[in-house]
Amino acid sequence: MNKLARVSLGHFPTPVQELPALSAALGGPRILVKRDDMTGLAFGGNKTRKLEFLAAEAKAQGAGMLITAGAVQSNHCRQTAAAARRLGMDCTLVLVGRPTLHPEANTFLDMLFGAELIWVKPEKRDLRLKEVFAAKHAAKRKPYLIPYGGSSPLGAAAYAYAMQELFKQAIRPDWIVFASSSGGTQAGLAAGAALLDSKAKILGISVDEKAKTLAERAAALATETMTLLGEKRKFKTGEMRVNDEYLGAGYAEMGQPEHEAIHLFARHEGLLLDPVYTGRAAAGLVDLIRKGHIKKKETVLFWHTGGTPALFAEKYRTALLD
Ligand SMILES: *Cc1c(COP(=O)(O)O)cnc(C)c1O
Repeated sequence: MNKLARVSLGHFPTPVQELPALSAALGGPRILVKRDDMTGLAFGGNKTRKLEFLAAEAKAQGAGMLITAGAVQSNHCRQTAAAARRLGMDCTLVLVGRPTLHPEANTFLDMLFGAELIWVKPEKRDLRLKEVFAAKHAAKRKPYLIPYGGSSPLGAAAYAYAMQELFKQAIRPDWIVFASSSGGTQAGLAAGAALLDSKAKILGISVDEKAKTLAERAAALATETMTLLGEKRKFKTGEMRVNDEYLGAGYAEMGQPEHEAIHLFARHEGLLLDPVYTGRAAAGLVDLIRKGHIKKKETVLFWHTGGTPALFAEKYRTALLD
């Protein structure tokens, strides 16, 4: 594995914890959780890992500021805004949604970090991002563009290293289950597994995309990530395990399955999940255990990717107490 430049933004390795009470409640397999919600940068999450590599490249290029885009409650934007401050840079975020007088949860944190927020309609996101970048460049601000979800080969490589980190913790699960969206986490884990010759079944629970679309993207990204890591290996779409049966009413729309999963983890283990990503992935995990798809004699590792600040957005807070 090539060694890539990295800056320190989080606390690694993140802990791995057993969830015996949840396992007993489900009559299911041994369940472990990899706590990437504890990476430590501004409430943590999977983007911290990616940002350690992306920010290293930004620094090497002499960047003066970071620019990225995301949804209103983007965990990626929140961690990017925090990373920029840690590195003495400014940050501009292109957020899909309407400006609000009552910033909540992640948006509130973006503002606390003093990020510049630019609100756009969904169809204008990519165009606005390009325009903002060009304007900052022209103003000699030396912007560095962080891709959506931090999911370039460089960002995804962080999860190949994360897989190596898990191996060093002497953890060899039969399954690794996690929330998958822009595909960087999945691509990196798949690349890492290939490099380490891991037999673990790596299953991304899609939070907003059809399985085929996400699997195609993750496979292409995993192939490019391998190249970056110095290995030639082509991933096929069919090699990527993606499950899209838990999309419910769509992205960021919390339904009964997420509601149940968040309560199960909270009440059996004192562990917090988020309503958009890990709540949905955990709902999938619980269902797959109940159906016997993940077997009692197996060990499953739930890779907690963060997102918990979104719990405090009014929309989710009230629904969760119903
Ligand atoms: C971004 C994010 C994901 C998805 O990761 P990708 O690499 O974009 O697939 C999962 N969980 C949380 C909490 C996230 O913020």
